[in-house]
Amino acid sequence: MIKNKLTGQLIVISGPSGAGKGTIINKLLEKDNKTRWLSISATSREPRPGEKEGITYYYLKKEDFEEKIDKGYFLEYTNYAGNYYGTPKEHIKEKINKGIDVILEIEIEGAANIKKLIPEAIFIFIMPPSLKELVKRLKNRGTENNDKILKRFNTAYKEVNEVTKYNYVVINDKLDEAIEKVESILKAEKCRVDRIEEVFLDTKEEEIHELLMDNNFDNSRISEKIQ
Ligand code: ADP
Ligand code: 5GP
Repeated sequence: MIKNKLTGQLIVISGPSGAGKGTIINKLLEKDNKTRWLSISATSREPRPGEKEGITYYYLKKEDFEEKIDKGYFLEYTNYAGNYYGTPKEHIKEKINKGIDVILEIEIEGAANIKKLIPEAIFIFIMPPSLKELVKRLKNRGTENNDKILKRFNTAYKEVNEVTKYNYVVINDKLDEAIEKVESILKAEKCRVDRIEEVFLDTKEEEIHELLMDNNFDNSRISEKIQ
């Protein structure tokens, strides 16, 4: 009776460093990597131990990143904590057209730029349960020294005020609950009426008439109960 648009959705996920964006997204992809795809960004920052070219990021020299900006290679880009970060345009359209949801894990300035370009994207903000817990997670992650943590923490402090520009906020206290909430948002978004392409009758009028005239169908007991 309803034909929905078969296109994928563009999902923008932001939140302060250490809130758990990466952890949540990895879990979402573990559960389903057929209809979900994480866009791999380019960055001019150094790889952290364990990070891999083309898997965590495409690592570019500052000059190469700037050359790609000039060539219009990025859907959006920004300078965050002293380094460039950008979303390559290629593949995004193709994935969306194939019905695959595209996830962008980007900071708030980049998200604001996407909102201007594609307001119908879904904007989700991942919030830590407290700033104290955020510092604890950043320290436990052990990927930055104290100086860098402080820089990220100061940015985080500004970022949490931007939450109202998003469509959804998910507090990542208990990880399983946070993942479930993000999945519920994605499911609910698929039910939006603006995804309907066509509403049509799937049964001929004569057949409906026959069904209505069917003598075996007796609903008198229902009406008795109502009285
Ligand atoms: P982000 O991608 O937002 O910078 P990460 O996903 O790297 O954050 O998470 C930061 C750290 O916090 C990681 O060490 C991760 O294992 C941990 N973490 C993520 N979610 C939770 C949670 N709900 N409870 C406790 N620790 C968490
Ligand atoms: P990190 O250095 O911790 O990997 O990332 C720092 C911040 O940059 C995070 O908030 C992350 O979401 C953001 N980021 C990663 N890739 C992109 C991107 O392509 N564009 C923008 N605007 N931000 C990004």
